[in-house]
Amino acid sequence: MSRIMAAVKNTTKTYTLNTGAKIPALGLGTWQSKPNEVKNAVEAALKAGYRHIDTAFAYGNEKEVGDGIKASGVPRSEIWLTTKLDNPWHKRVTEGFNKSLENLQTDYLDLYLMHWPSSTDPDDLKKHYPDWNFVDTWRELQKLLDTGKVKNIGVSNFDITNMEKLLAAETTKVTPAVNQIELHPCNPSPKLIKYLQGKNIHPSAYSPLGSTDSPLGKNEALLSIAKAKGRSPQQVLLVWGLQKGFSVLPKSVTESRIIANRDLDGWSLTDEEVAALDGIQERFKVCGDAWLPIRVFHG
Ligand code: NAP
Repeated sequence: MSRIMAAVKNTTKTYTLNTGAKIPALGLGTWQSKPNEVKNAVEAALKAGYRHIDTAFAYGNEKEVGDGIKASGVPRSEIWLTTKLDNPWHKRVTEGFNKSLENLQTDYLDLYLMHWPSSTDPDDLKKHYPDWNFVDTWRELQKLLDTGKVKNIGVSNFDITNMEKLLAAETTKVTPAVNQIELHPCNPSPKLIKYLQGKNIHPSAYSPLGSTDSPLGKNEALLSIAKAKGRSPQQVLLVWGLQKGFSVLPKSVTESRIIANRDLDGWSLTDEEVAALDGIQERFKVCGDAWLPIRVFHG
């Protein structure tokens, strides 16, 4: 192993956000992690060295994520904890935020995201408020910073049009620190990435493995790179994201996979390998159109 390769430290890498905070590049995802699985997954991840956990009110598992953090014995101050405001809570930002703190059994969050740019009426999840949109929600989210109970705020699932609308609004005083979006070689979104990086907004990659039962795991280009490097396809996908400057949030409830997904130090992808992954033509979105009936992008 060359000295340069040995120096590649993906697992302790951080990115400096526009707030000055340092977000750990590798985080454990928890979407679809069932309450009876996620406590163990979070505990295993933290014991294995992960220092970043991503959850959301909508996942229905914040309480067990909090239990896993406690069970790990890792001090809260060493952990980056992200959760998200769900769509039906857009008019009740403080209430939604406090519920998440309570569920997670913590008195602060490192990052609180607006989960979707979509303000859903809680009494009818197919409807959106006629008198409220994500600009209003962001105005309220900004106020949370004054409480000291959240260190950074950001957005998720924002495309360029929505980002522009948000940044241009008179009430927007704080630029989102992060936009958490679906990112993998079958949904690389280069225009959005360029836009975000130009505004100093960190792109965080969700579904970095292509999500559950992903067709990406069977892609020939990926499989041949993984074979040549003696790495799993999942490890190659994570390093692809890290080399692009994304934080990556692989989800697993399987301890051996949680550990394997962190075996990313001391090796990297060559420019040719990155180009081969960039050249994958297949396209799919995990959280795209399937969500639209209830999560319409709403100006
Ligand atoms: P993902 O991390 O791309 O993939 C998870 C799937 O891959 C699970 O089925 C997992 O199985 C499997 N897996 C994990 N490691 C593996 C390995 N080494 N070998 C083989 N299979 C492996 O999918 P995701 O959950 O969609 O996305 C990751 C995280 O991003 C989420 O959990 C969530 O925290 C976040 N997210 C955010 C949004 C948003 O709207 N902001 C949307 C989607 C996701 P097992 O668990 O059974 O091991």
